[in-house]
Amino acid sequence: MGYEKTFSIIKPNAINKNVIGKIMAQFEENNLKIAAAKLSKIERSKCEEFYAEHKERPFFGELVDFMTSGPVMLMVLAGEGAIAKNREIMGATNPAEAAEGTLRKLYADSMGENAVHGSDSPTSAEREISLFFEPNEIVNE
Ligand code: ATP
Ligand code: MG
Repeated sequence: MGYEKTFSIIKPNAINKNVIGKIMAQFEENNLKIAAAKLSKIERSKCEEFYAEHKERPFFGELVDFMTSGPVMLMVLAGEGAIAKNREIMGATNPAEAAEGTLRKLYADSMGENAVHGSDSPTSAEREISLFFEPNEIVNE
């Protein structure tokens, strides 16, 4: 484990709720640093590449439609055990199963519109960070 970097997205439904600051504050309160951040819109082709592992799933089209429907906050989070810690702060994929106080319990609307993304392994973190950030954009490690 040790000191890690992970990739995080505040999804369009949470941006619509005007809770970017509240979500970023939760990361900071849990000792994760915002190592890089940009408010952006994801291109459809980039989004398909990002979610390539879900290409054959029935919800793939809907997932890409949603993730490209509005602005997102793309972030690199850094800290001790950042990958697992971020997943814990996020809560379960399905908000109905998300623990009290987690970001998905607080801000998800459904399984699809579930407020945040977080890398699920060191390999994913590395792939996802490099898909959205140049090394010189990670300025607060
Ligand atoms: P994420 O990758 O966004 O952090 P996750 O790792 O908890 O979420 P995955 O299994 O990787 O969950 O699914 C990726 C995303 O696809 C989910 O966050 C959710 O938005 C969407 N998704 C997953 N399963 C379903 C489903 N059964 N119906 C609709 N959308 C789904
Ligand atoms: Mg995932």
